[in-house]
Amino acid sequence: MKSVQRIVVVGASLAGLRCTEALRAEGFGGEVVLVGEERHGPYNRPPLSKAVLAGAAGGLELETTGERAAEWRLGVPATEVSLAARRLQLADGGELGYDGLVVATGLRPRRLPLPGPRRGRHVVRTLDDARNLAAALRPGARVTVLGASFIACEIASVAVDAGCSVTIVAPEAEPMAAVLGAELGAALRRRHEARGVEFRLGTVASKCDGGETLRAVVLSDGTDLPTDLLVEAVGCTPAVDWLEDNGLDLSDGVLCDNRLRVQGHEDVVAAGDVARFPNPLIDDVPRRVEHWTMAVDTARQAALTLLGRTPGPAGFRPLPGFWSDQAGLRIQAFGSPALADAREVVAGDLDGDVAIACHRTGRLIGAVAIGRRRDLIGLRKRLLDERSPLATT
Ligand SMILES: Cc1cc2nc3c(=O)[nH]c(=O)nc-3n(C[C@H](O)[C@H](O)[C@H](O)COP(=O)(O)OP(=O)(O)OC[C@H]3O[C@@H](n4cnc5c(N)ncnc54)[C@H](O)[C@@H]3O)c2cc1C
Repeated sequence: MKSVQRIVVVGASLAGLRCTEALRAEGFGGEVVLVGEERHGPYNRPPLSKAVLAGAAGGLELETTGERAAEWRLGVPATEVSLAARRLQLADGGELGYDGLVVATGLRPRRLPLPGPRRGRHVVRTLDDARNLAAALRPGARVTVLGASFIACEIASVAVDAGCSVTIVAPEAEPMAAVLGAELGAALRRRHEARGVEFRLGTVASKCDGGETLRAVVLSDGTDLPTDLLVEAVGCTPAVDWLEDNGLDLSDGVLCDNRLRVQGHEDVVAAGDVARFPNPLIDDVPRRVEHWTMAVDTARQAALTLLGRTPGPAGFRPLPGFWSDQAGLRIQAFGSPALADAREVVAGDLDGDVAIACHRTGRLIGAVAIGRRRDLIGLRKRLLDERSPLATT
């Protein structure tokens, strides 16, 4: 892109911030405007379902990796954009023209259309969400968590530590099994159960019951689950409504090429949870990746692309990686364990510290570990070696 004067970054969180820093680090001297829906400046989201829920105040600051000079418009969502006219509309009636646009609007939590009272129902995506729920997690409170994802299990873990009586309700057979596999999922369920979390799996909530205040959640199998607090942790949908009517593929986030360029638009890039792009380290299928480190990696690549720098011939090949803290354990993973068709315990055992190699069609595609750091590092190295463009397999 030539003679860029003003870059507008929509979404003032991890990806938006890191993109701004990368633009400055690469010498962009024009105007950068960051537009954010939340009234808070950028903060770290992982502690929301962990330390913040447990009442801690720290851990939210995103360390500075470089120059952040930008005009900040916080508390003002973008409502629509014309990519043809390069103009962005804001909810306060303002309008912004741009030469380059960064889409970094992340996700919104999915809400279930359950009939019944709304009071007592929570989600955890923003700092305000987490603080609201933290204030309600009192000893003895009966908490029902809908969903058996990583975030659901983290929330259940903090709630049980706070003295709540906690039940997880989900349609899956085992928690987190889509990513970790059924065996490790079952082992983690047992660890949560040993700490007092109850599981109702293979079932879903069909309604909330009570007057103005929540009394119970009624499950599809007819169970009446007395509940003071209901937490919906049932996944998210990309925040792309403001991009509609521009002919983009918004079927799951915003479709980009490998350089994070929004397809068909030289002057628009996307980064973070909202970006769907192919990663040749894995395969050629465009996917969204909801990991903290991926928001950082894609933000930098998006900035480079906007400034006209192309990656080398091997393309942009970031290694996905994430962690999750729950039940007193740290789970760590690299690659794409969710795509595995076979899993092999390479060290330890499922009920203790463990390292697992995840394969797809006979090739290493991911690694998962609890403890076993050295084994995990070894698997990570193998993953990068075997998936290098020079590897012959
Ligand atoms: C509770 C929780 C726990 C997590 N724990 C982990 C973990 O342990 N490990 C891990 O690897 N990852 C974890 N993640 C994921 C990680 O935090 C995300 O991958 C990361 O925050 C993505 O950053 P982002 O900037 O792409 O999106 P977000 O952080 O979602 O930021 C998007 C921003 O855009 C704003 N926005 C949306 N629409 C508009 C609009 N129209 N106009 C202006 N602004 C808008 C939003 O308000 C938001 O501030 C967790 C996420 C959550 C929610």
